[in-house]
Amino acid sequence: MEASKSMKVQVMYNLSQLYWFFGSLLLFVTLSSAHGQETTKPHVIVLGVAQDGGYPHIGCEKKCCMRAHHSKDSSRFVVSIALVDPKEQKWWLFEATPDMADQLRLFREITKGIYPYLPEGIFVTHAHIGHYTGLMELGREALGSNKVHVHALPGMCKFLQSNGPWSQLVELNNIVLMKCETNAPVTLSESVMVTPFAVPHRDEFSETAGFRIETRGRNYLFIPDIDKWEKWEKNIVKEVDLVDVAFLDATFWSITELPFRNIKMIPHPLVSETIEHFKDSDSDLKRKVTFIHFNHTNKMMWDKGARQEIEESGFSIAIQGATY
Ligand SMILES: [Zn+2]
Ligand SMILES: [Zn+2]
Ligand SMILES: [Zn+2]
Repeated sequence: MEASKSMKVQVMYNLSQLYWFFGSLLLFVTLSSAHGQETTKPHVIVLGVAQDGGYPHIGCEKKCCMRAHHSKDSSRFVVSIALVDPKEQKWWLFEATPDMADQLRLFREITKGIYPYLPEGIFVTHAHIGHYTGLMELGREALGSNKVHVHALPGMCKFLQSNGPWSQLVELNNIVLMKCETNAPVTLSESVMVTPFAVPHRDEFSETAGFRIETRGRNYLFIPDIDKWEKWEKNIVKEVDLVDVAFLDATFWSITELPFRNIKMIPHPLVSETIEHFKDSDSDLKRKVTFIHFNHTNKMMWDKGARQEIEESGFSIAIQGATY
């Protein structure tokens, strides 16, 4: 009698442990899938996908931009991503775009306000208008921020330091320039590290950086602007293979896109050229290629059929607001 009673107690104890285990598991899964990815681990949120001129584009009355001119749901912000470290409760912004104020609001909405309003630091690739002019929002005329870290390569730092109005941000300590060196990792927290590298691009005012983001979890590549993959010293296929998600320059779909401009003066890898580089890659590798930085003329921005075509051929398209 005594023995069976103690067995009963043991069975009940085991059962309660089992309930506790599955209960915790359910809670973990619920929390983890809040944004489609595990948001308890470091992750990236896309805050913008358009080329520097934004979408809709100034002066464009063609099919590509008409709907976006009339509907906020169809418009998109300029290319930008947020890197989030939930453990440290910190985040970093990549690119200070002309849409930065809206993008800070979007980040706050997506993360339900649990992170500081301003990022711990801003990484800037280069001195073309879509990538740094949002810094003006941090100045005396707007937010008047205090010592926001801006990480950039030496030429970009020099450009900001020696040209107004950016120089005033430095003088007033609205921003602090954190000079990076190519291929020298910047450790941001126990779980997150960013390595800048140089890529060939029209370097009118500064050199151009790409960033490799390594986390305790997923790794990312961010190359929103590059002239041509062939001009780069590295092999794009191998570089993509080393990460989980690669955000790559998809400015133009085809060479006929800008009939009134010489497209050779503004070189970018055409989407078809990038696809060609990966023609012998397996489906896992292709899926990592996540196109971003769309010009308004690129039909991947507004044509469902074109987007479907890309996805059916195994590649991915960056979605504003999505977690990676
Ligand atoms: Zn750009
Ligand atoms: Zn347009
Ligand atoms: Zn550029």
